[in-house]
Parts: sequence; structure tokens; C-alpha cells
Amino acid sequence: MKLLRSLLVIILFPVFLFAQDRPNIILFLVDDMGWQDTSLPFWTKETEFNRRYHTPNMERLAREGMKFTNAYATPVCTPTRVSIMTGMNAAHHHVTNWTHIQKNTPTDMEDSFFHRAEWNYDGLSPQKDIPNTVYATPLPQLLKESGYFTIHVGKAHWGSMGTPGSNPYNLGFVVNISGNATGHPQSFKGGDNYGNLPGKTTFHAVQDLNEYYGTETFLTEALTLEAIKSLDVPIRIRQPFFLNLAHYAVHTPLQDDPRFYKKYIDAGLDETEAKYASMVEGMDKSLGDIMDFLISKNIDKNTIVIFMTDNGGLSLTPLRGGEAHTHNLPLRAGKGSVYEGGIRVPMIVKWPGVVKPGTKTDQYIIVEDFFPSLLEMAAVRNYRTVQPIDGKSFVPLLRNPEQGDADRILIWHFPNKWQPDGPGINYKSAIRQGDWKLVFHMRNGQKELFNLRDDIGETMDLALQHPDKVRSLSSLLSSQLREWKAPMPVVKSTGRAVGFSDEQ
Ligand code: CA
Repeated sequence: MKLLRSLLVIILFPVFLFAQDRPNIILFLVDDMGWQDTSLPFWTKETEFNRRYHTPNMERLAREGMKFTNAYATPVCTPTRVSIMTGMNAAHHHVTNWTHIQKNTPTDMEDSFFHRAEWNYDGLSPQKDIPNTVYATPLPQLLKESGYFTIHVGKAHWGSMGTPGSNPYNLGFVVNISGNATGHPQSFKGGDNYGNLPGKTTFHAVQDLNEYYGTETFLTEALTLEAIKSLDVPIRIRQPFFLNLAHYAVHTPLQDDPRFYKKYIDAGLDETEAKYASMVEGMDKSLGDIMDFLISKNIDKNTIVIFMTDNGGLSLTPLRGGEAHTHNLPLRAGKGSVYEGGIRVPMIVKWPGVVKPGTKTDQYIIVEDFFPSLLEMAAVRNYRTVQPIDGKSFVPLLRNPEQGDADRILIWHFPNKWQPDGPGINYKSAIRQGDWKLVFHMRNGQKELFNLRDDIGETMDLALQHPDKVRSLSSLLSSQLREWKAPMPVVKSTGRAVGFSDEQ
């Protein structure tokens, strides 16, 4: 009897323990990586770009998890990052453009027609009454309070220097490696000390990585090694962890990752594009190293891995090689645009025991959905936030990828001037419902209508053929933006804010 009881304890104990353990969560967030910058096809067919890039570990993650073919971010960095942290749409949190490292410094370019909109140009704040910020209860704060060990590694870019939100520790992270107010590194090269060079250091020089100075260690690799080290404590004390591994790759400056560069030159790419492809593969190697580490610690079965990127692929030249606005084809345009190339991004979720391996969902989702989803994954219930949550959990989709919702509306709002005008770039709003998407141009009031199922490249404006659809989407867009008090640019000649799309 005693023996039987001992056997039962031995057999049942791990099961019981496992049931008690909440899953670890890794958010693997890549900067500026486009929907086509991968050998894993997210479209219905394989493209030239899928053959150009090598991302075997994204393929592996997709084999073990679920691919989201219609996942969306915002057109640029900070709005997406603030949406993840707050669960709010960018038109609602009002951090509609990227934040400057210096406080009180709107990043909008000068424009002859518009004064800038009143947006929250100092970013996210966990503290009330900080000017030009959105006050919110951040995601890692809630995870930490519920018992998670919270780690940030890499690019933060949630707020300007000198505001509380610029410091990941103030947002609920227990560990912060290399995250601050900057949006890009001074250098990816260990040989450059990541920018920390006597007489040359700027605020973009990456901190916390002294042990790799003077080595060949590319920044992506250094951050991966540090992320793995940082997991030692929670694994040892068996505390569930949340790792926000936010790579600086593949943002500019485009530099050669020496581990992969030559193979892309040999494949015939120009130097710029070979550098870019090497950074993509370096990022993918990081994903594989993290997955291998989880297996080596025997925690892979209890760890959720989420792959996401913060906006569409950069498609401005000469920062990129080749022809501008072609780097995300078949999607139109790239980073900064409300066309699909600027906002549709690769997303994969692996959750052993919940997500059926090798599955995909075509339901559209948007980045503010991460907030309620991650809290649901972590079994954090009845939480209180100072901000209203706009996002919707995608956990039901993980359980049933067929569960579609063609009535849901998604909204993008970019009342800013990011760069000189380009396709879908500057002063635009957009709304998607089902297969339909309306793009509103604030400069001239134009409304374009596309059917994404038939025309993923947004090449055929159907506004004239479907005036009712234009009217209904325009009305939905306007009433939501009005409710969120979305910032709009001000017409210089009249001194009045631009009207919403249903007023034009
Ligand atoms: Ca970005």
C-alpha cells in the first residue's frame, strides 16, 4: 500500500505541478520586418521574396504553432509598442507617430499645408499628469503583480528620455537589458562597441553589453545571449516568466551580420539588400537559439512563443536597395504607409497543448489584441487598468482557427508627417471590415475602397462602383475616431482641424 502510494505520488506529482504552472510567455518582437521578409509564405503562394530570405526557424515555429496570415501592426514603431503595452488603438492612445529620444520634441516633418496634430509625442506613461503622454497601466506591470518574472531585452522606444515611460523598470519589468528611449542602435557591430566609442558615442549607443565590446558579436546575437542568461533566475526558482525580446534588427542602420552576409552577396543581391537579408537571418537564428534553449531546459512544453513585428518592411530608397515601395510585394508600399505593406506583418504563435501544430488562421487581428491575449494566456483575470482596452483576445482563435469574424472593424490612423509623401504615407486613416478596406486621405478628402480578397495589392479603387460601402465604412471610421478623440492635423490657411471622413 505504501509502495503504491509512493508510486502514485511519483506519477501524479509532475502532472499536478505542471497543472499548477502558468505558461511562460516569450514575445519575440522584430523591428521593421515586412510580411515578405521570410522563407515562410504568409500569402496563398510562394513569392520571389520567400525564396530570397532564409528563415528556417520561423518555418519551424510555424510547423509547431499557428500562422496568422492577416495580422496587423501600425505603420511605424512607437504606436505599435504602446498598443502592446496598453491594449489601446493608436487613434485612442494618441501616440500616433514615433517618439523622439528628447522630451517635448514632436517628430513630425514640416508641411506647407498642415500644422501638426496634437498627438502624444512623449509616448506612454505609467504615471499620471506627464504632459503629452498617454497614462496607462502597462502590460508587464499586471503580469508582474500576478506573479510573473518580467524581462525586457532590446529595443523599448515607449517614451522620450526624461519621462517615466522611457524606462522599462517603470513599466513593470524586473530586468531591463538595453532598452531605453531610442528607436535604433548606433551600430549593430561588437567591433564598434555598439556605438560606445570615445568621442563618438551618441544616445543611440547600445548599453549593457560591455562584455561583447571589440568582438565579432552582432547585436542580435548579444541580445540573444543576454536574454538566455536572464532566464536563469526564473527557471531556477520555477517562477513563470514573461520575456519581451524586442530585437533592434532589422531596423536601420543596415549592417552586415558577418555570419550570413556572404551567402546573400553570392546569391547576387546588392550590398544593401545582402546586409538586410543577413540581418533577417541573424534575427531568425536568434529565434532558433531561444527555441533550442527552451528544449535544453525542458520548459519548451510550458512556454508560449509569439513571433511578431512592429510595422511593415522599410521600402524607402536609398536606405533600401532597388526600387522604392517594392520591397513588400504583392503588398503595396511599406513602413509608414496605411496600405498593406506598411501594416500587415508576419505573426506566429506556438502554445503547446493549446495550438494545434502546423495550423493557420486567416482571421484579421491587430496589435492592441496582444494585451488582453497575453493576460488571458497568463490566466490573469479581473485586472484593473486606468485605460479602456480596445483590443480583443485572440486566444479563442488559437483554440479554433476557423472561428472567423467578418464584422469586426480594425482602424489605422496616421495624422502625421513621417517622411516626404509616398503611397499611403502621411495624413491617412484606414478601416478594414471583412474583405473591404477604406483609405481616407486627409490632404484632399479622397476615399479609396479596396477588396483585399481579390486585390491584396490594393491596385483597384472600387469607390465609384460601391458608394454604399464607402459611405458605411466612412461612417464607422469617423464615429470611432470621434469617440476616441483622435488627433487630426490642422489646416494652416483656416486654423481648423481636418474633418473626419464622413464630413468630406
Ligand atoms: Ca519599427
